[in-house]
Amino acid sequence: MQVNKKAWPLLSICGLKQRIDTQPDYQRPAVWDSAQRQLLIDTILRGYDVPKLYWRKVASAPDKYEVVDGQQRIRTVWEVHAGEFGLSKSNDPIEGLDVRNLHYEELPEDLRLRFDTYNMDVVILSDTDEDEVREMFLRLQNGTTLKAQEKRNAMPGKMRDFVKKLAEHKIFANSGFSNSRYTFDLVAAQMVLVELAGGPANAKNADLNRMYKDNQEFDVAGEKAKKVRRVLEYLLSAFPSKTPELERFSLLSLYMLTSHMLDRYAFQGRQNDLAQWFIKFEILRRAEEKKPVDQMADPDLVIYHEKTSHSTDAKDSLEWRHQFLLRNFLESCPDLELKDDQRLFTHDQRMAIYRRDDGICRVRLKCDGAKCNWDSWEADHIKPWAKGGRTTVANGQVACLACNPAKSDAA
Ligand SMILES: [Zn+2]
Repeated sequence: MQVNKKAWPLLSICGLKQRIDTQPDYQRPAVWDSAQRQLLIDTILRGYDVPKLYWRKVASAPDKYEVVDGQQRIRTVWEVHAGEFGLSKSNDPIEGLDVRNLHYEELPEDLRLRFDTYNMDVVILSDTDEDEVREMFLRLQNGTTLKAQEKRNAMPGKMRDFVKKLAEHKIFANSGFSNSRYTFDLVAAQMVLVELAGGPANAKNADLNRMYKDNQEFDVAGEKAKKVRRVLEYLLSAFPSKTPELERFSLLSLYMLTSHMLDRYAFQGRQNDLAQWFIKFEILRRAEEKKPVDQMADPDLVIYHEKTSHSTDAKDSLEWRHQFLLRNFLESCPDLELKDDQRLFTHDQRMAIYRRDDGICRVRLKCDGAKCNWDSWEADHIKPWAKGGRTTVANGQVACLACNPAKSDAA
């Protein structure tokens, strides 16, 4: 990749309008409201500094560009120059001149000249591929260095091996982001981290590094590992084919949502509900995000956008998004029931079941109705607990020690 920085006068940037694509597909438009746009004009007219723009050169002779970062700044400059947008009605005087409500054409000549000749630093990226630019864009957006995952992949230990294996799960290939710089491994590691934490937690590089270090002897056959694989399988059956809506941040959120739902709700077999809700939510979100912030219908979507644009891996952001999505999902599926939170049959219930069944195995997957000793049988949910079966005597039956695990595997 070649990187060249140059200072371009705004007038030249306006002249290039036809050659600049402000919406390449890795951009997530956050349309500025009037106050943000007016602040930028004021900043320029005072000659203050404005952050650099990043463009990717995508064609030569004539040169064409995509905006990697600075989309709203460029658009505002164009709008001002075209007279579509002016200073606010309460703008403070600039150099003693009253500029309230003025549009570009009405500006005092000195200020108009200052606008035209204001130099904006533009960083031009050339000879680069989309993955490289995408990574740069991510870094500009949230400061995350994805390279950190490469380093983690070199850390020995069972956690590293476990995460590497998870990253090969088909749900990642079905998602809308690429595996550039081991992004699949990064998201897989974040999933393990929130699972170990039991919910939203800081999932930044330092936290992930610590997890790798502290879990070098991670039990890849243990309960937590099984749960992670179970959630990924669930997500894969919800999204069995390519789903561009699954972005880096939303896949992690869906992981947390599914993990939570599987623990607490009768969530088996609800993959279609999950997928339909998510796609509908994404369509609405994307339509809303094209509007200026002050015209968005749902104020929560404004916050959601904010939380998915900056510090996306901080606990605050993950927690807020988790609660928001959970609430949104439960509203769309009002019939979802909490699991009977008592999963284990009580002693009294066990006695009643054993007596009623004469201690004979009623499951009969592995036996022909074995007679069980009081010390060697399990009370089994006829309608499985994970599918909403209650822990009641009516829903209980005797299972011999051979049939009980056979039934859990089949469920
Ligand atoms: Zn049996």
